[in-house]
Amino acid sequence: MLRLDMRFLSIFCWLMTSAALAQTVPTVVPDTIAPAPILADTVPRFPRLGRTTSSLTNLYYGAGTDRLGGAKRETLDSGVVLRVTGQQNNLYRVQLAPNQTAYVPTEQVRIDSASLVAAQPASTTYLTGNWTVSGDSLFDYVAIRLPDRLPYQTRQEVDPNRLILDLFGADVNTNWITQLRSAQMIERVWFEAEGDGHIRVIVALKGPKRGPVHWGYSVYYQKNTLMVRVRRPPAGRSLRGLVIAVDAGHGGSNTGARGSQSGQLEKDLTLDVARRLATYLTRAGAQVVLVRDADTNLVPSVRIRAMRKQLPHLLVSIHFNSSGNVGVQGVSTYYKHLGFRPWSQLVLDEMLRRLPVREFGNVGHFNFFFNSPTDYPNLLVEGPFLSNRTDEALITDPAFRQKLAQAIGKGLRRVRRLK
Ligand SMILES: [Zn+2]
Repeated sequence: MLRLDMRFLSIFCWLMTSAALAQTVPTVVPDTIAPAPILADTVPRFPRLGRTTSSLTNLYYGAGTDRLGGAKRETLDSGVVLRVTGQQNNLYRVQLAPNQTAYVPTEQVRIDSASLVAAQPASTTYLTGNWTVSGDSLFDYVAIRLPDRLPYQTRQEVDPNRLILDLFGADVNTNWITQLRSAQMIERVWFEAEGDGHIRVIVALKGPKRGPVHWGYSVYYQKNTLMVRVRRPPAGRSLRGLVIAVDAGHGGSNTGARGSQSGQLEKDLTLDVARRLATYLTRAGAQVVLVRDADTNLVPSVRIRAMRKQLPHLLVSIHFNSSGNVGVQGVSTYYKHLGFRPWSQLVLDEMLRRLPVREFGNVGHFNFFFNSPTDYPNLLVEGPFLSNRTDEALITDPAFRQKLAQAIGKGLRRVRRLK
């Protein structure tokens, strides 16, 4: 659900789950980092080096927040070295490069108390090594050899289709980019020096004749080598053979919104639609994974780790909307990463074509935890508003929910046939 006036997209259920996420991140701490002692007042606290402690560390653009947290730059791997220059509430400010600042939750960084450091790294502190582009039976890889686990930020681009990886705190000493024929969808790789301590790596992608090029990528460290693993588009033009994860929003004590007239709970209605969608997709030849198939409450970080391991071809999360303004109506879809947008566009299009509902919109750079992963395409579907009488009458009708599930399924099928 979303409770809104348009300026404050409020999802109180997700708020709860965001808090839960913060509490449940397991830590992996390199041996070299000692626990931070209590510092005497006379000792300046910053700048100091720190390291990320979780493989789901949130790197934010700023110290701002909204209901779902600040705008995310990246999800960093564990053990990434950060130059911490200050603290603002529960966030550390980190200096990525001379003109690049970011924020990280304090509970996801272990400060190295041993020594104060300069606020800016010396330009020769870190230098990049040789790179290799290769492939195996499933993925293409770019391996970037580095002297330490440096911070990075990635994004998808479309037209042309490519991945952009910004690497911070190092200068270029790469004179050797080996590109092997086993790489099938990475067309070429090069870099640009964006500024002191800021290198941009460009990974150009080859696409299939039909359907989207972007099927997900993962960024992680193997020792000090930064790996970009790119998933190749699956063969075919249908949903046949695809592994599709369907997430019924909320569950258990996390009930989501409540119908203003019927009293029906969002968690029950989302599970109903998820099951109907699963039936549709199974008939279309897909292998469906229901993220939950019972009235259970799963912590977001647990859901995300499970999905990363499972690596579905697609994840669809289903919710129903809600607003403090009872006049607000309509259906909407949400994505964060540009390469995954077609899924959300065509699902919205099919819902608007096939259902007696209004358009609430297609929303980008959305901060829902299930839209964060880049490892597989994902989209969030918000059905009509439980807070609106007309919309609620639709939602509580099983025949409507069947049509809604079919419209979602038909939208997904259309993506596979996109030119
Ligand atoms: Zn919801």
